[in-house]
Amino acid sequence: MVAQRIKDIPPSLTIKLTDRVRELRRKGMDVLSFTIGEPDFPTPPHVVEAAIEALREGKTKYAPSRGILPLREAISRLYQERGLDFTEKNILITTAKFALYAALQSLVDPGEEVILPDPCWVSYEPMVMMASGRAVKVRLDPLEEFSFLPEKLKEAVNSRTRILILNTPANPTGGVLRREHLKLIADLAVDHDFYVVADETYEKIVYEGEHISIATLPGMEERTITVSSFSKSYSMPGWRVGWVAAPEEHINDILRVQQHTLTCLPPFVQAGALAALEGPQDYLNEMVKAFRRRRDKVVEGLNNMPGVTLRPPHGTFYAFFHYDQPVPSMDLTETLIEKARVALTPGIAFGEGGEGFMRFSFAVSDEKIEEGLRRMRTFFEENF
Ligand code: GLU
Repeated sequence: MVAQRIKDIPPSLTIKLTDRVRELRRKGMDVLSFTIGEPDFPTPPHVVEAAIEALREGKTKYAPSRGILPLREAISRLYQERGLDFTEKNILITTAKFALYAALQSLVDPGEEVILPDPCWVSYEPMVMMASGRAVKVRLDPLEEFSFLPEKLKEAVNSRTRILILNTPANPTGGVLRREHLKLIADLAVDHDFYVVADETYEKIVYEGEHISIATLPGMEERTITVSSFSKSYSMPGWRVGWVAAPEEHINDILRVQQHTLTCLPPFVQAGALAALEGPQDYLNEMVKAFRRRRDKVVEGLNNMPGVTLRPPHGTFYAFFHYDQPVPSMDLTETLIEKARVALTPGIAFGEGGEGFMRFSFAVSDEKIEEGLRRMRTFFEENF
């Protein structure tokens, strides 16, 4: 007796697979996991200290629903530096995943269309479904940073289009969109009067090119809901803290969703987030340097395997590689666990456009990556 709205919603495959690996390990199987995107580095010590200090000071009650003022001010300065006319009124502190959910809840009426990249992160489509919207998937161009294929995107836009979800740097593809890719989307959004929900979770993890916020393009400040997170940049995934940056009226709409659901994020978590933003940034730079080194290792290792091709990801910590066999990616995932003791996320988890690909998350130690690549190489040499 499940509600219609929830009936067809699949489980999150990134989370399900990670749980499965935990279970296999508990049973004694030596399986290496490159599934979930979770940085292996500890949260910076000064961030942990700031949260402990806040707990000791008794910051254990409700925080303001929009988030604590100094944190909202600090985040608004990030956007001012990019040329946006934002103040603390344009910022709301929440979990980034919840921010995306709440943004869709606040903007989509039943049957309205939401354009999604195909492939894209596992949770966008279920979020559209939970908002009773209709997901319209548009294929990406692997040769162009996995940006939208321009003709396909133009065909997808119509009078029912309400939102386009944009993710750059992108999970799972590692693509970093250039200004010309963003301009195409911005021009369409302005001409057809739709919103862009920009998921910029990986904004700090860029190796080539630069991260550009679509909100900074002409006409976009008033029609972009930007979401970002502390999880990946500051290695804080378990803290569940991120934010929304948007025109004030949209922040107020999302705030109402937050007031009636989460209430607020814990005040000691927000104290940690503030320390992350305002404290030394060298930790972040070191982490990106390590991700770049691992990226190079993974690119070389995978491209040396028979039947495997990977264009170097320009951002994120995901290698989205193509394999040259007519095997469904879900089956390959099972075989890799069974025969190579390596767990990856199948491309199909990210949509039809991901079939024929596998996602390898290199947010794990160099040693594990080296061992994982060794195991995979043996498997691909024997089977491909
Ligand atoms: N976003 C990460 C991933 O794709 C974390 C898991 C999740 O939220 O899906 O692996």
